[in-house]
Amino acid sequence: MKQHIAIYPGSFDPMTNGHVDIINRGLEIFDTVVVAVARNNDKNALFSIDERIDMINQLIESNPRIQVETFSGLLVDYVVNKQARVILRGLRAVTDFEFEFQLAQMNRTVCPQVETMFMMTSPECAYLSSSIVKEVGRLKGDISKFVPPLVAHRLIEKFNN
Ligand code: ADP
Repeated sequence: MKQHIAIYPGSFDPMTNGHVDIINRGLEIFDTVVVAVARNNDKNALFSIDERIDMINQLIESNPRIQVETFSGLLVDYVVNKQARVILRGLRAVTDFEFEFQLAQMNRTVCPQVETMFMMTSPECAYLSSSIVKEVGRLKGDISKFVPPLVAHRLIEKFNN
């Protein structure tokens, strides 16, 4: 039977409960979810690519239906190379829409056989982003409700150094 693969691209700097929610819901629909960490816009990242990959690998606890990879260059090229057809993205507020709309249209124009599919955020994750979590962490606020315990631990370590 044909395997349905979704590529879930992003920065994941670091992974939040919002990302985890999208991955878990993605697994209800797709056989495999590939978490694809982008190497492109790495300049202002808090965690290195290796640190992010390491955290994600620990979080997914060797679930054989989740793969963790990095990619650089055009996302659609990477998707086609993986023999996948679906890019999975999450949508939070209206503010996400414009950028995601532009990105999806562009990807579709460049590569019509690749489809972008969106999942609405779960209400409890609607206000969560990696940036806001980093900001709260930087100011020594309680981040335990926003990220998995491992990520909270790594954020506290980062900001204590
Ligand atoms: P990017 O830099 O590509 O936006 P992110 O790591 O910020 O990378 O996000 C990756 C994907 O996860 C995006 O589709 C984003 O909309 C989605 N996402 C991030 N946080 C949430 C959340 N709280 N709820 C739903 N989707 C989310």
